[in-house]
Amino acid sequence: MGTVVDAAIKDANGSLPSHKKVTVVFVLGGPGSGKGTQCANIVEHFGYTHLSAGDLLRAEIKSGSENGTMIQNMIKEGKIVPSEVTIRLLQRAIQESGNDKFLIDGFPRNEENRAAFESVTGIVPEFVLFFDCSEEEMERRLLSRNQGREDDNIDTIRKRFKVFLESSLPVIDYYDSKGKVRKIDATKPIEEVFETVKALFTPLSDKVI
Ligand code: UDP
Ligand code: MG
Repeated sequence: MGTVVDAAIKDANGSLPSHKKVTVVFVLGGPGSGKGTQCANIVEHFGYTHLSAGDLLRAEIKSGSENGTMIQNMIKEGKIVPSEVTIRLLQRAIQESGNDKFLIDGFPRNEENRAAFESVTGIVPEFVLFFDCSEEEMERRLLSRNQGREDDNIDTIRKRFKVFLESSLPVIDYYDSKGKVRKIDATKPIEEVFETVKALFTPLSDKVI
């Protein structure tokens, strides 16, 4: 893994990463559990910068990057893109931002993502927001959201659910064993979910709302 780590650092900024002190909250949950929707609310109320790993990967495809075709094929199959690619994009977004607090949405998706991110960036999350939602409800949301995403079809959705159960839940278990998971019932309506989310962020906030 040493090679992967060195390459990720060099490719991101051509030198060692800066050591600005950052607060990171990982936002995890199955596809369609409401991560993106709730992140937008958190940004508005608490001044975080929202970094969606999926959005960064989709932007990378659009930019015509040499990895674009590989990323596109993996997303179509619901597979997890190699860590060094995703970490480089996240690292660059963190470094380019003027902010010092970030919501990282949809990452880490497996144990290897998690371990590589921690060792490359040295960042340990403040806590992990876990949106717990039934597959039935997630499937309904994904099939009705019409965002023109190539992976919001029933075949890919099934694959994404399987990857979530097999690869992403162990990451949540890992952080749970460290007492870092804040589990939210995400089957409820958006406003109700946000009430619960708000209560978790308020003690961290230096802004009165
Ligand atoms: N993806 C990935 N690594 C990440 C985040 C996303 O490989 O860290 C890929 C993966 O193929 C996933 C797709 O991007 O199925 C869409 O991810 P996103 O988080 O946008 O969607 P969600 O599954 O949360 O609806
Ligand atoms: Mg999303």
